[in-house]
Amino acid sequence: MSLTPLKTLQQIFGYESFRGVQADIIEHVVAGGDALVLMPTGGGKSLCYQIPAIVRAGTGIVVSPLIALMQDQVDALLELGVRAAFLNSTQDRAESLRVEQAYQAGELDLLYVAPERLLTPRCMELISRGKIALFAIDEAHCVSQWGHDFRPEYLGLSVLSERWPQVPRIALTATATAETRAEIATRLALDAAPHFVAGFDRPNICYRIIEKNEVRRQLLAFIRAEHTGDCGIVYALSRSRVEDTAAFLSKNGIEALPYHAGLDTATRARNQSRFLREDGLVMVATIAFGMGVNKPDVRFVAHIDLPKSVEGYYQETGRAGRDGLPATAWLAYGLQDVVQQRRMIDGSEGDQVYQRRLLQQLDAMLGLCETVSCRRKNLLAYFGQTIEPCGNCDTCLEPPEAWDGTVAAQKILSAIYRLWRERGQRFGAGHIIDVLRGQSTERVRQYDHLSLSVFGIGADLSVAAWRGVLRQLLALGLVTVDLEGYGTLALTESSRSVLKGEQTLMFKRHREAPPRAAGRRSTQDPAITLPPDVQQLFDGLRGWRSGVAHSHGVPAYVIFHDATLREIARIRPQTMDELAGISGVGVRKLEAYGADILACVGAQTSVA
Ligand code: ADP
Ligand code: ZN
Repeated sequence: MSLTPLKTLQQIFGYESFRGVQADIIEHVVAGGDALVLMPTGGGKSLCYQIPAIVRAGTGIVVSPLIALMQDQVDALLELGVRAAFLNSTQDRAESLRVEQAYQAGELDLLYVAPERLLTPRCMELISRGKIALFAIDEAHCVSQWGHDFRPEYLGLSVLSERWPQVPRIALTATATAETRAEIATRLALDAAPHFVAGFDRPNICYRIIEKNEVRRQLLAFIRAEHTGDCGIVYALSRSRVEDTAAFLSKNGIEALPYHAGLDTATRARNQSRFLREDGLVMVATIAFGMGVNKPDVRFVAHIDLPKSVEGYYQETGRAGRDGLPATAWLAYGLQDVVQQRRMIDGSEGDQVYQRRLLQQLDAMLGLCETVSCRRKNLLAYFGQTIEPCGNCDTCLEPPEAWDGTVAAQKILSAIYRLWRERGQRFGAGHIIDVLRGQSTERVRQYDHLSLSVFGIGADLSVAAWRGVLRQLLALGLVTVDLEGYGTLALTESSRSVLKGEQTLMFKRHREAPPRAAGRRSTQDPAITLPPDVQQLFDGLRGWRSGVAHSHGVPAYVIFHDATLREIARIRPQTMDELAGISGVGVRKLEAYGADILACVGAQTSVA
């Protein structure tokens, strides 16, 4: 007789109760229903298919795009005593034969397969020879052609419903605007399946967005001040920026590795594996990195270039703090990012509809950057959820001062207008700001701009303040970057109402120094800082854990999460029963490691 879902959660995974919609999803799938699951990164999607796969008769087939991570996923399940395996191109023939036999003999609870492998006639044939408990389609947004992770192989997966109409299918993703959701349902033939939407909030992540000036220096200062010794991910847009930034951090004493599509497979795999296995490494990467990486103790995610969409940003930042402990999402952006991205969109292949969509995504991202209200509120609104201001983002912790920027906006708009109307010229931000501030530069003299009526009318604001005004005008769609020219500025349809004085504009005051608000939080938060004796036991347990992880050849978090070790260090269990009560300690781990842990606790207690 198999266990109930709740007993499976408690005994195998060692967790007390289901989170939010998990219980409903699991009940529905165990009963044989299809489902579309939308949960933020770190929300707990894996259990939604793992538990039904364990509870139902047969094997759960998990479609996952990430060959490089299957080994770790399977290792983690084996540590829990779940019968799991994978089939992919990293295995030799003998090994895949063993897995195939185990599957046919009904000896597996879960089998991970990449979509391209699954869809081969040979693999379809193989799985039809065993009993299928369910199909789980992980990272289901990979089926979306508009999305940032499109995988053509995913389009073939609708065949599963035709061939096995009776087998429940559960598609899971963390990327979930209404649009993407509809696309997933159609393409995977899940039109009739209920959608289970979890709360998208990640309360332990503190969101911060700063103005970019010297971004590498700003990044270094941020890591040094708030995250020394922590594991983190830094996202950059191009390969060369990834390389430069990784080298820069390493030279400055922060061990960092690069990851991008231009590196050979072996180097990428090695860097990824080091990141997962070692403590305190920083991965500097393009967005090619991170999907499916479920390292729970990533303490910060930093973006040194503006992400292309809020969806992408939310997914990337969601990789921080899966263990529920405080984490930071840090983004630096500037005017240049906007110019560059507009240019990239213009140069991108694809029809107008596609380009318009990219522009809308960029505008939403700019809106988030320039908001004067709660970042989290703004983020969640994008996913259709409403909250009160959060108290854990930069704008909540240190509300930006607002100022009436109507006149400033009129000055800059009329400068752009006049240069265009009177001289037929268009310029980029730098020159327009020089003109406004009355700077007699070589260029100003060359074009005889000293004689313009707008020359010098904006001497009251600094260059940085003017750039702030421009960024906000761009975010509001009151100025646009001309795609024909070299990032020159142009007015839009809506600029007129500002020039006519029909609109009041409240802007965020530019800050010369970035707010230090969140630093206060993450370094002194009691959730992070332990009392000395607890810290000592925690360090001891971590030392023990790295020995075990090393000898098993798995990342440390596969043995126990930091959160579990912290809890053990705090509670100091004296008996196996007490230890079993701690979240993250299931039957198998208790059996395998219980005695060692109690010995660690005992040794430290007797010293103290
Ligand atoms: P996702 O795949 O949605 O990003 P995971 O499945 O990796 O998230 O889960 C995130 C973390 O939350 C994991 O460390 C997992 O063990 C933990 N978790 C999931 N469900 C529960 C639960 N019901 N109780 C306690 N911890 C949970
Ligand atoms: Zn907030």
